[in-house]
Amino acid sequence: MTDGLDTRIEDKRDELIALTQDLIRIPTLNPPGDCYREICEYLRDRLAPRGFECTLVRAEGAPGDSDRHPRWNIVARREGTRPGDCVHFNSHTDVVEVGSGWTRDPFGGELDGDRIYGRGACDMKGGLAASIIAAEAFVDEHPDFAGAIEISGTADEESGGYGGVAYLAEHGWFDPARVQHVIIPEPLNKDRICLGHRGGWWAEIETKGEIAHGSMPFLGDCAVRHMGAVLDAFEQTLFPAMAQRHTDMPVVPEGARSSTMNINSIHGGEHEQADDYDGLPANCVPDSCRIVIDRRFLLEEPFEEVRGEVIALLEDLKARRPQFDYAIRDLNSVQPSMTARDAPVVTTVTEAIHEVMGKAPDYVASPGSYDQKHIDRIGTLKNCIAYGPGVLELAHKPDEWVGVTDMLDSARVMGRSLQKLLLP
Ligand SMILES: [Zn+2]
Repeated sequence: MTDGLDTRIEDKRDELIALTQDLIRIPTLNPPGDCYREICEYLRDRLAPRGFECTLVRAEGAPGDSDRHPRWNIVARREGTRPGDCVHFNSHTDVVEVGSGWTRDPFGGELDGDRIYGRGACDMKGGLAASIIAAEAFVDEHPDFAGAIEISGTADEESGGYGGVAYLAEHGWFDPARVQHVIIPEPLNKDRICLGHRGGWWAEIETKGEIAHGSMPFLGDCAVRHMGAVLDAFEQTLFPAMAQRHTDMPVVPEGARSSTMNINSIHGGEHEQADDYDGLPANCVPDSCRIVIDRRFLLEEPFEEVRGEVIALLEDLKARRPQFDYAIRDLNSVQPSMTARDAPVVTTVTEAIHEVMGKAPDYVASPGSYDQKHIDRIGTLKNCIAYGPGVLELAHKPDEWVGVTDMLDSARVMGRSLQKLLLP
């Protein structure tokens, strides 16, 4: 049964290469969110003639959505011949900025040996192409399949997914009544299954002071010294406490199995002058100092406690440090997500990896975040994993590439997974 499918996928090698190159050549940079309509139309033109019913959905009113940069998404659905489960492959179509250091054309889709180069090759147009080839080969081999296959191309994953998967989830596209299994072909390596990711909380903390002449700081109140006290409290209390907490989630790399926090930025006192300003700073006591914190938390940590312990530290300073005052502003937060190891999509892809790669998969979780949170928390669909070709460490780097052999192997895993789920 699988031999026919494997042969079909292998026969599509050139088609897979061309498809990946075409996708890379559409420069869907985010921000600002370029070419979303163009890539959705490309996918529709490919999938509609192959029997997929295609719906283009604009995330109107989502952050970043405007007439100049509309947030377009596509959902393509191929019905089987009888009732059954729906398997959904979700890929984000956006790519991050190019950055410096490239020796290849970032939007050229150059093929060199087994590698296709370009921004988004690995994260994640290679995964999108592999899932399309897998689905098409499966439909060709088993036109009488049960249930349905969906392929979506969604906007804005790199900026939080609010104009993409979150919007679709809010509008019922990931309702467990219509979709039962979700595979997100993010570049997690072809022999690993990613079960979920940590949570994140971003906030700005401001300490307040009182402006005065710099020669008489006792007449004012230095906001930067107050922030120094905040950072000291973090060092003495918060960081040691976070380091003690460990998760059962299989997060990679290992260091991310504890709670972590990055101090993203700090600014106090007068505004920074232009680079060409060569005068001296004004003589002032700063009346404001701001930091941005990036706190990543574990499945075992409730968000209210994560936020609450930072507030408690600030309140403690307020109680014992003269003139200390602060403000805190939430910037964004995302919840952790973790699919159970015995969920049907996990056990199915596990078997398929065994068959194709001859080994058991590694189970991992992401230290960062991806669109699974929206499918889980908004869509309430728990049967979701990330599985796809590509080396995670190459994502967002110069000379990003995806391997053709890796795409073919992961397409075989995806095809076999479809056989197990849709050929009862
Ligand atoms: Zn990605």
